Amino acid sequence: MSAPGSQGAGPYPWQREQWSMLHRSAIASRLHHATLITGAAGVGKSDFAVSVSRLLLCLKFPDVTQACGQCERCLLMEAGTHPDYTYLDWLDKASVISVDQIRKLSEKLALTATYGPYRIAIINRADTMTTAAYNSLLKTLEEPPGSCAMFLLAERDASLPATIHSRCQRLTMPVPTQDESIEWLQQRGIASPQVALEFARGAPLLAERFAADRDLAAISAIREYWRDFIFSDKSPASLATAASAQLNTRECFTLFMQWTADFAKNIEFSVASGRSPEEGARIERRFLSQTMQLLQQSLRLDNASLKTQTVLEGVLADIRIQRMRIRAENSA
Ligand SMILES: [Zn+2]
Repeated sequence: MSAPGSQGAGPYPWQREQWSMLHRSAIASRLHHATLITGAAGVGKSDFAVSVSRLLLCLKFPDVTQACGQCERCLLMEAGTHPDYTYLDWLDKASVISVDQIRKLSEKLALTATYGPYRIAIINRADTMTTAAYNSLLKTLEEPPGSCAMFLLAERDASLPATIHSRCQRLTMPVPTQDESIEWLQQRGIASPQVALEFARGAPLLAERFAADRDLAAISAIREYWRDFIFSDKSPASLATAASAQLNTRECFTLFMQWTADFAKNIEFSVASGRSPEEGARIERRFLSQTMQLLQQSLRLDNASLKTQTVLEGVLADIRIQRMRIRAENSA
């Protein structure tokens, strides 16, 4: 999770378009008082909002396109002590943004900016505000103080009340293409980032966190074990051993689901291009879809008290039985 003011100066490569859009609005003094930034976990919403804040508060703005990092105001941001900047997130062990946090923020935003031109607030996980917090924020959104710029961050705009998101300008943070992500992760020193990206469903920052201290080659080898188990009936024992040595239970199921979904896509592609007969695909499709269901159910169970290997052995045995049942039905 991003700490206030600790990010680099500019956008990530896949955020340039959104960056120039906000930059142009700010230069033209048309920046909306509240921007709702949505996008999947791990695409860099928070870093983007922090970098924009730094730019808007930099003394060299609007003559620069990124915060200079050297002026007195940039140094205050760096130190986390800029009086016109607030970053709200969960406090301590809370898992909500409370009404007290929003009230304090609204009071601060109502004051004249110490340095100007803006008073800026970022609300991370804005979709976890309590109802009272939403109601309190609504008042500020209805009558925004002149110099305020708020950035609300959430994975989906639908997870916020309509009264809130209808008062914000929307900005969607894209998931970069696979090539863009791979290039970026490789520049960050991650040699074979594919499997980390699979785990993160394409979100590069999540992939980077996953890759830290992992043996990605060993995890890629687990993909091959999984393929052999699914398509060649290989024994589940070696798969359970290999997977539990590298991943926790949740990670195993997340990756198995991702890989199974990829297999299903490949089968559809193969049928559509005439390379596989429809009849065989029908059985495979059914097996893969039932495997997905089993994995989804297993992911929802609370397996925390069991060893990963034990959980995997149980689920893999269930998948095997399912395959035998489907085969028996089709040969009957
Ligand atoms: Zn500066």
